[in-house]
Amino acid sequence: MAFQYCRKCVMPNTKPDLFFDEHGVCDACQSAELKNTIDWDLRRREFDELIEQFRNRDASNYDCIVPVSGGKDSHYQVYIIKEIYKMNPLLISFESSSRTPLGRKNLDNIKKAFGVDLIVFEKNPVVYRKMSVEGFRKVGDEFWPNHLGIFTVPVRLALQAKIPLIIWGENSQLEYGGPKVARMKNVLNRRWLEEFGGLLGERVEDMIGVDGIEKKDLVSYFYPSEEELTAAGITGVFLGYYFKWDARPQVDLMKEYGFSVKEDGPVEGTYTDYENLDEYFQSVHDYLKFVKFGFGRATDHACLDVRNGRMSREEAVAIVKKYDGKLPRKGIAEFVKFSGLSEQEVNQVIDSFTNKALFLTDEQGRLLRDGDGNLIKCYQEY
Ligand SMILES: [Zn+2]
Repeated sequence: MAFQYCRKCVMPNTKPDLFFDEHGVCDACQSAELKNTIDWDLRRREFDELIEQFRNRDASNYDCIVPVSGGKDSHYQVYIIKEIYKMNPLLISFESSSRTPLGRKNLDNIKKAFGVDLIVFEKNPVVYRKMSVEGFRKVGDEFWPNHLGIFTVPVRLALQAKIPLIIWGENSQLEYGGPKVARMKNVLNRRWLEEFGGLLGERVEDMIGVDGIEKKDLVSYFYPSEEELTAAGITGVFLGYYFKWDARPQVDLMKEYGFSVKEDGPVEGTYTDYENLDEYFQSVHDYLKFVKFGFGRATDHACLDVRNGRMSREEAVAIVKKYDGKLPRKGIAEFVKFSGLSEQEVNQVIDSFTNKALFLTDEQGRLLRDGDGNLIKCYQEY
C-alpha cells in the first residue's frame, strides 16, 4: 500500500480502518459530508421517542446512565439529557489513569452546573498500573485498561442498578472515519467495544497472570454477557447519532456552564486547549499513535477543523507540521513517575513500536532525530 494523505483533509492512509475512494478522499471526509445530508430533525424525533420509552414515570429509579469523563463531551451529554430533556440521569465516571486537577475541577463542575448525581469509580491503582504497563509494552498503549474500564464499568452498573438506558457521547466512527456499518449504527455493544473500542486485539483475559494479576482483580473489566444484557433490556446509544456533533461550538456553549479549558496554552502534542485535559500523560498515548502510524493528535484536530469548514487544507498542513509528533517530554516524565519504569525503558518501548518505514533512519536502520530529539517523517509532502 503506497503512503498517501487524503486530498481533502490531512489524514494519512496508515490510519487503521480508514478507507480512501478512487479520488483519494478518506471516508471520514465522506462521512462528514454525509452528516450534512442526514435529516437531523428526524433523528431528533427518533431520540424523543427513545427517551419517552425509557423515562421512569414513578420516580422509582434514574431514567438513564450517562458515562462521563468530565470533559467537553461529558458536559454536552449532560446538558442535552438534563437541561434539554429534563431527564434524571445517574452519571458514572471511570477514574482516569492519573487525574489532573483540571480534570477533577471539570468533573465537579458537571455536578454543580447541571444538578446531577455522580458515581466516580475509583479503580484499584495497583492492578490498574500493572495493566497499564502491560498495555504499554505489549500493544503500545498505556491507556489500555482505561479504554476497557470506561466501557465496562457503566454497563455493569447499569445492569446492577437496573437502569436500562445508557447514553454515550460521540460515535467515534462517525467523527473520525471507520467502516460504514459502524458509522451508521447507533448502538454500543460488546462487538463494537472489541472492534472499535481501541483494545488492539488484546482481551481482558490476557491480563490474568500478568505480574500476579488474578481473575478476581479484573471483575469490573469484564463486559457482561449478551444474555444478561438482553434479559435486562440494556440499551446503549450514541448521542452523536441523534445530534450533529461539532466540538468547537459545543465547547463555547459549555464554557457558559463552567467548563474550563487549559489556560496555559495548548495540550502537549496538539494546538487545541479543550480536549484530554484530565490525564497527566495523554501526550504519550497520542505520541505512540504518531510513531505507529505517522500522525498525531494535531492531525486529528486539524482534520476535524477542515471537515467542519473552519480551516483550509493549507492551514492544516502548516499546523500539523508545527505541532504533530513532537517528543512529549512532559508526558514521558509523568508516565515514568506513574509506571515505575525508567525513562530509558519507556523510550525503548516507544522505539519498538515505531514504524521505520515512516521515519528517516541511518544506514544501520537507527532512527534519525532532529536537534530537539524529534523523529523526522519520510512523507513531508501533503
Ligand atoms: Zn479526509
